[in-house]
Amino acid sequence: MRHSKTLIPTLKEVPADAEIRSHQLLVRAGYIRQTASGIYSLLPLGNKVLKNVEKIVHEEMEKIGAVEMLMPALQPSELWKETGRWNSYGRELMRLNDRHDREFALGATHEEVTTSLIADEVKSYKKLPLSVYQIQTKYRDEKRPRFGLLRGREFVMKDAYSFHTSQESLDEAYQKFYTAYQNIFSRCGLNFRAVIADSGAMGGKDTHEFMALSEVGEDTIAYSDSSDFAANIEMASVHLDYPENTEAMQELEIVDTPGYKTMEQVSQFLHEPLEKGIKSLLFKVDERFVLVLSRGDHEINDIKLKHALEAFDVELASQEEASQLFGAEVGSIGPVSVPDEIEVIADHAVAVMKNAYCGTNENDKHYKNANPDRDFNISSFHDLRFIKEGDPSPDGQGTIQFAKGIEVGQVFKLGTFYAEKLGASYLNEQGKQETMTMGCYGVGVSRTIAAIVEQYNDENGIKWPKEITPYQVHLIAVNPKNDEQSELAEEIYQQLEANNISVLYDDRKERPGVKFADSDLIGLPVRVTVGKKAADGYVECKLRENGEQEDLHLSDLLPKLH
Ligand code: ATP
Ligand code: MG
Ligand code: MG
Ligand code: MG
Repeated sequence: MRHSKTLIPTLKEVPADAEIRSHQLLVRAGYIRQTASGIYSLLPLGNKVLKNVEKIVHEEMEKIGAVEMLMPALQPSELWKETGRWNSYGRELMRLNDRHDREFALGATHEEVTTSLIADEVKSYKKLPLSVYQIQTKYRDEKRPRFGLLRGREFVMKDAYSFHTSQESLDEAYQKFYTAYQNIFSRCGLNFRAVIADSGAMGGKDTHEFMALSEVGEDTIAYSDSSDFAANIEMASVHLDYPENTEAMQELEIVDTPGYKTMEQVSQFLHEPLEKGIKSLLFKVDERFVLVLSRGDHEINDIKLKHALEAFDVELASQEEASQLFGAEVGSIGPVSVPDEIEVIADHAVAVMKNAYCGTNENDKHYKNANPDRDFNISSFHDLRFIKEGDPSPDGQGTIQFAKGIEVGQVFKLGTFYAEKLGASYLNEQGKQETMTMGCYGVGVSRTIAAIVEQYNDENGIKWPKEITPYQVHLIAVNPKNDEQSELAEEIYQQLEANNISVLYDDRKERPGVKFADSDLIGLPVRVTVGKKAADGYVECKLRENGEQEDLHLSDLLPKLH
């Protein structure tokens, strides 16, 4: 590709709104442009990088026998109502009405659409197991879209769904996807770690997150310095092997509600300063109150809630009830709403309280008579223990260290929840009707690009790993007005193209300094510079990775680049 024919609008200045390296560099190097908050155009270079990540994903999905399809982004509300998520998904779900005033959502995820489709089309055990996937644009009205491609409101995801006749079959698929994800992120060049995600309290086998290690990550990973144990801190903390937690939770009687919590109180409660805040949700199940607390940057969703409830042996009568308890908006459950002054972020720990009293300005009226002597205080929480660096690892091996991570993917055993709600059943070998068991598996395709740039950059720009780079070679003629240089550059350009070595040829009539600076910024692995030595058939070859450079004769160039 000739630079003069494509669109690479590089910038010298760091964009004012870009706080982190990947956001700054992707904008400055001309890969992306913001259209609205959390909504980006991928310019030609950005689009190429996206396609390269997608190619890896396609290849690894193909290897494990997942089949590609494409489902609609526009989804009728009826499907989401059947699973209760029309309410429980909250404000993150983008909603709209058509001209007949029918309600729709823009797909934030596709469990409903996939499951109802499979429910209609697969009726027999003979078609199972089945794994389908798509790479598609997702929409989530994130509370705080930020960091460029890292947390968008419109972003590209690979989402896969698997359907099974048994738990064993699901376990097998889960393992395959897990391995495929390891391959995908390794091929992307990422330094990553698979961690136990939010069903860790149930043994940690049911969901893993793939975390690209990075200081700008919004998740904190607790890992053992001498074993394989690694979990999202929210899960590490509620690990049931912590006797202190179990005891403290059993003893908890008094509950102050989110309505009255100040940041100071919450910090005290967690025994640590909180920069951002906490999310806490309170709801009542039978005679018990359940408080879901959070730190980190997660929303509490219905699946996390379900796991939390299971972990503490609390059952909800139905998903509808859960949705009702959740209320229409994420950030509130039942009569309790989390006030805006508490920055709502993540589910961190779960406590079950017997005979608890709660009161807020809003729900006082509901519970006023429940336990009128009670004081509002949170002193009873003080024994609750959250995992810290230096703690013994929950698996008994080594001590806990913390690291920051970017969630680039997640694998999840869904079980029968969606299949039950949407009637995905099949006839087994005996001709008996059974419910399908499901898994779901997501990769943040566009987020992965940002994670890669976070790990591959220096003060001058991006340094792409070789499977991701938009072009392998950056070809520069120092002085295109010089005939020898421009002719040699042209010849090299033709040769590389003919040999399928992808090349970006900077044929612009710009000063060499501008070209070199842009080249470092754009970050292709190899730079071939045609300068004064062109007369003797020599060019300079420089590696972006480590700055190594050498003069090569034209005849040695191709073998070197292959
Ligand atoms: P997060 O915890 O960061 O909000 P999530 O757990 O809500 O992510 P999933 O529902 O697991 O996300 O979606 C699958 C993948 O999609 C995530 O692992 C992540 O890589 C990506 N993803 C999720 N939300 C966004 C977003 N707003 N922008 C870009 N990628 C995203
Ligand atoms: Mg998450
Ligand atoms: Mg999210
Ligand atoms: Mg996730």
